[in-house]
Amino acid sequence: MPVNQETLGGIPLQRIVEVFEAECSSYVSLHPRSLALAGHGIAGFYQGVPMHWMRDWSMPFPFLVESAHGAVLHDVDGNEYADFCLGDTGAMLGHSPPPVVEAIERQAGRGLTCMLPTEDAIAVGRLLEERFGLPHWQVATTATDANRFALRVARAVTGRPKILVFNGCYHGTVDETFVRLVDGCAVNRSGLLGQVADLTQLARVVEFNDLAALRAALAHDDVACVIAEPVMTNSCMVLPEPGFHAELRRLTREAGTLLLIDETHTISTGPGGYTRAHGLEPDLFVVGKPVAGGVPASVWGFTDEVAQRLNAVRSQTPPGHSGMGTTLSANALSLAAMRATLEHLMTAEAYAHMESLAGTLAAGLQAVVGQYGLAWHVVRVGARVEFICAPGPLRNGTAAEAAHAPALEQALHLALLNRGCLIAPFHNMMLVSPATTARQVESLCMAFEAAVASLALGRFDVP
Ligand code: PMP
Repeated sequence: MPVNQETLGGIPLQRIVEVFEAECSSYVSLHPRSLALAGHGIAGFYQGVPMHWMRDWSMPFPFLVESAHGAVLHDVDGNEYADFCLGDTGAMLGHSPPPVVEAIERQAGRGLTCMLPTEDAIAVGRLLEERFGLPHWQVATTATDANRFALRVARAVTGRPKILVFNGCYHGTVDETFVRLVDGCAVNRSGLLGQVADLTQLARVVEFNDLAALRAALAHDDVACVIAEPVMTNSCMVLPEPGFHAELRRLTREAGTLLLIDETHTISTGPGGYTRAHGLEPDLFVVGKPVAGGVPASVWGFTDEVAQRLNAVRSQTPPGHSGMGTTLSANALSLAAMRATLEHLMTAEAYAHMESLAGTLAAGLQAVVGQYGLAWHVVRVGARVEFICAPGPLRNGTAAEAAHAPALEQALHLALLNRGCLIAPFHNMMLVSPATTARQVESLCMAFEAAVASLALGRFDVP
């Protein structure tokens, strides 16, 4: 049989396949109960899972979670994991953090959803204003919803039809953000199902860090809003180049375009997000996922100026369906959980711990990369760490896409998981929570070393 000479991330493809197969059989033998209960699909669910993303992990079938506390997760087979995925950021502040559990318990017997505010809303409004520096807030249920509503406001107040996104972005399942640059042209993102509209009628797309392209795109005077993560986290991580944010702000102001900063992932930076840490000045701001400690909720906020312009538009619009809001948004349970999260979890002390251990983790991973002479790199934004199986830094979405090495990443993820460390299924993302311990960080670095050794040297020690 001819030997495959191809490599991925400097690793022979043949070896990647062998490692992955060995890790798959190890996984199967470590999860007999999950295999029996759910390994062939959970009856009643399309594709055997309650949400199809649950099939997007590297393992042959997802395990069933028995419990999750702090940064530790147990499955129904009795396996224990140091959890660095943390629900892909939903549990960034730890699983079932005690202040949130207490708040849920307190509220649980007093009404879960009434479509009226509770007293917790008074504290939440004040905390949002203080924490993120904007005076007007609304609560939604997911970051996707928050982005959709904020973009609607931007269009309403500017009277402009388009938004601008950076190539390779993800802001939730918000239709008009699903555009990509292909050979310099905007196109609907491939893979979309049931999308009948030409989304390029609603959106412009340019590369991150490309100020000349941004300037040109804004010159059409039809862009209501630029929606941006301050650091691109949804492709392989791309950092802003020095001066990028200042210029993004200057150009958007000059063009009469609003700026929406989506902090759903970059809230890993600090209690006020990347925005507060780096003095950004968005017109609109979104954060979802961990903002209610794992209870579904998101918030979107805006400036006084946007509020005044919105009032003016509303006064000219007949009452009726605004296209914003959902019935369960800002329900009593999520407000209670959000208050506990903002008051007790998103603290400077918690972030100091996260930042420090994330620094240790990044250095540990980078050392392994160096030890094996691989042309990979490690990036970090606060508590969020990512290894990328290609040289860096990456400058934009196209470079990030090219840096992906799916088969290699899959093998690495599964090898880490079989050694007790769970990382996010999308990208190679690891989050450090306030509950994460130095010991867990050490165990992840050791697991990474073992996984890399098996791939780089063919030195198998499958658990
Ligand atoms: N914004 C960003 C930056 C995200 O990464 C995500 C999800 N990964 C979202 C918005 C959407 O969050 P949700 O799926 O909770 O609606």
